[in-house]
Amino acid sequence: LPDIFYKVDILVIGAGQAGLSAAYHLKREGIKPGKGFVVLDDEFGPGGAWQHRWDSLTLSNVNGINDLPGMGFADAVNTKDKELQANIAIPKYYEQYEKTFELPVIRPVRVSEVTERNERFIIRTNGIQFSARGLINATGTWKTPNCPRYPGWEKFQGRQLHTGEYKNAGEFAGKHVIIVGGGISAIQLLGEVSEVTQTTWVTRRPPDFRKYEFTPELGHEAVAMVEKRVRAGLPPDSVVSVTGLPITPAIEKMLKKGVLDRKPMFEEITATGVRWADGTILDADVIFWNTGFRHSLDHLAPLKLMNDKGGIEMTGRLATQVAKDPRIHLTGYGPSASTIGANRAGRAAAKELIEFLKL
Ligand code: FAD
Repeated sequence: LPDIFYKVDILVIGAGQAGLSAAYHLKREGIKPGKGFVVLDDEFGPGGAWQHRWDSLTLSNVNGINDLPGMGFADAVNTKDKELQANIAIPKYYEQYEKTFELPVIRPVRVSEVTERNERFIIRTNGIQFSARGLINATGTWKTPNCPRYPGWEKFQGRQLHTGEYKNAGEFAGKHVIIVGGGISAIQLLGEVSEVTQTTWVTRRPPDFRKYEFTPELGHEAVAMVEKRVRAGLPPDSVVSVTGLPITPAIEKMLKKGVLDRKPMFEEITATGVRWADGTILDADVIFWNTGFRHSLDHLAPLKLMNDKGGIEMTGRLATQVAKDPRIHLTGYGPSASTIGANRAGRAAAKELIEFLKL
């Protein structure tokens, strides 16, 4: 039987901040929803990764949510209510945004593989197949947790979970929790879990606490360094690896309480806990991996975009265009992995791709 494809000029994969921004700009530039472009997203509802974030992440402690183009966050949600959970408020905003601008988001559709045939991309999904001349990939990181497999992983009789599965600290009451990881999420969740139960904090490298205030200038510098890396074809590093961890009032409080007594990484997981290289053992009920996420790009593997440095060389005005194949843009990737970065990347990707494809 011949393959049947739904043909579009541009296919956007992912409807988080990065995909919605790209969709808005494609439409604004005159690309028609439908045959001109569609957005595929594998979730049941709007909100991208935000719909899965833990309950204590509220409008008072998120780093700041940048407005999507054309409609403010405050136009959709009462942002004065700082107790509002991010996992409720932001999906509500995105839902209203998609409706207001009549963006052609099709869900739930999971893209499993993108290949190339006759100068078109063939997009395989769990539903119908698509064929496109250009791609804007905006799949984020939430779907690909980074979870190192330490020896003995499978023997542990307690519970192991990753940041992506966490909802609230209540479920750990009365349990000894080993928290692994040295990033912002690890520390935030260590603070929260240590309020209700006994914790042990473990990191690979000593945490890089720095006494300074995180200013927008520092943010720009950090993003510029990540951009430099991806333009050189290196894997993007996290912003924290560049800026270190600024000592916030919350961290100061944890330091005083002794919660941030860090232990080096253990060597092995046992049935009942963990064992360090010097033979010390510790029994625990839970191992909580706050070890970050990777960019979700596995579906693009057949296109062989990755180089032998493990990165993808990026080009274009905001480094969203794949140097090896200018018909592909990655938004929300590397320097644009924030709500503000994703916004700008969506605009740059839409404009550059339209120009390249002469639409
Ligand atoms: P996402 O929101 O993850 O959207 C990607 C979409 O693509 C999802 O709906 C996903 O399900 C879908 N998808 C993935 N793979 C496929 C596939 N194969 N087929 C179909 N669909 C697919 N940034 C800020 O600016 N301010 C903050 O305060 C802030 N706080 C953060 C807190 C945490 C805990 C974390 C982890 C990140 C935070 N960030 C923050 C970063 C920010 O969340 C993201 O960079 C930003 O939301 C960009 O989203 P995105 O569109 O790239 O990805």
